[in-house]
Amino acid sequence: MTDLATRRARTLGPAYRHFYDAPLYPVRGRGVELWDAEGRRYLDAYNNVPSVGHCHPRVTEALARQAEILNTHTRYMHEAVVTYGERLTGLFDPALSQVMFTCTGSEANDLALRLVRAVTGRSGIIVTSNAYHGVTLALAEMSPSLGAHNPLGAHVRTVAPPSGADGGTRFAADVRAAIASLEEAGLQAGALLFDTAFASDGLRLDPPGCIAGAVAEIRAAGGLWIADEVQAGLGRIGSHMWAYERHGVRPDIVTLGKPLGAGHPIAAMVTRPDLLAEFGKKTRYFNTFGGNPVSAAVGLAVLDVIEDEGLMQNAAETGARLLSGLRDLAARHPEAVADARGTGLYAALELRGTPEAAGQGITWLTNEMRRRGILLGSCGAHGEALKIRPPLPFSPQNVAELVTALDAALSDDALLQTLGKSAQDV
Ligand code: PMP
Repeated sequence: MTDLATRRARTLGPAYRHFYDAPLYPVRGRGVELWDAEGRRYLDAYNNVPSVGHCHPRVTEALARQAEILNTHTRYMHEAVVTYGERLTGLFDPALSQVMFTCTGSEANDLALRLVRAVTGRSGIIVTSNAYHGVTLALAEMSPSLGAHNPLGAHVRTVAPPSGADGGTRFAADVRAAIASLEEAGLQAGALLFDTAFASDGLRLDPPGCIAGAVAEIRAAGGLWIADEVQAGLGRIGSHMWAYERHGVRPDIVTLGKPLGAGHPIAAMVTRPDLLAEFGKKTRYFNTFGGNPVSAAVGLAVLDVIEDEGLMQNAAETGARLLSGLRDLAARHPEAVADARGTGLYAALELRGTPEAAGQGITWLTNEMRRRGILLGSCGAHGEALKIRPPLPFSPQNVAELVTALDAALSDDALLQTLGKSAQDV
């Protein structure tokens, strides 16, 4: 294990990070469970890529079956690709009726930027203050969460995410100010781009409707709204298939990724035909692996499993239990927990203290929970909140296991000391 960590660092270099103090080495997964090289079992309460569960047999079967027959690309016809496109767009408002396939969320966002540029002729982009939108140079320039040493583009403006009861009003005012700031620099706002769950900004799904004012501002200025559903989409929030639907507004462009292939790299951009007509007139698009028949077979199997196993319903029901469990924990540990929030199987538990101390508290907590056999992550500008985003088949028993372990960890003196110091500082 140490040997592998050394080989990994030597060969892959220093830009890759491990999640935990002691690197985790899972070798097998099934449903919401992972097993490490020593045979230890972990409850996965973090990963959304294995959306329908790790290594779902219907998904791996569909993959193997199509891989044995043929794999080509979008320069040839293939029915599965078209059928997958029809099934996927069928999950959207009828106005969002066309889809283009990519392999990663980054490629989907990058394509969305090209579309905005082609349709509006504008370059200005507005994102949230701790956004992450992908790996390309264009997207790194609009991903402030990559840190102080990652320069944002001169054509990029940031706004705080909506939070609190009247957060929507402030969000809209900030977008208006960002549009004006771009204009002062001689630029025009081409698009407002944000993760519809504001996950890297600390997970902000409430109140419903809070994004509508900001969307109206970008439209009034002649720009488009790109809803990044790469993390939040595909049934996770329980009440709707896509997180933006909770707010009662329809995007111009939606980008999708992570959960679509349950582990297989499938991503997409869904949009209106009038926008793609303009794009298609000006340029062409070929993504060697995006929209291949094996990916389409996998994507179709994932949609079948979500439907047949009622996973969106499960996200709503089990998610309600999860949130009530987290709220109980907040009530039982008022000295440690500042807030419990979320919708469906997407939740955050924010710690008290300065954001920096709360961030240290979360680092301690995620490592402690890992020692207790449960995998979790962090979110927020300082990593001040626990990010809970399990595969969709997470059960009420899994919630009970998670809440019991969190209850014990939150009582630990080591955590209270980390936070206590800062609580006095506040
Ligand atoms: N958008 C959001 C909101 C994301 O969370 C991510 C990945 N973390 C991306 C885009 C980029 O997706 P990918 O890593 O598949 O390129």
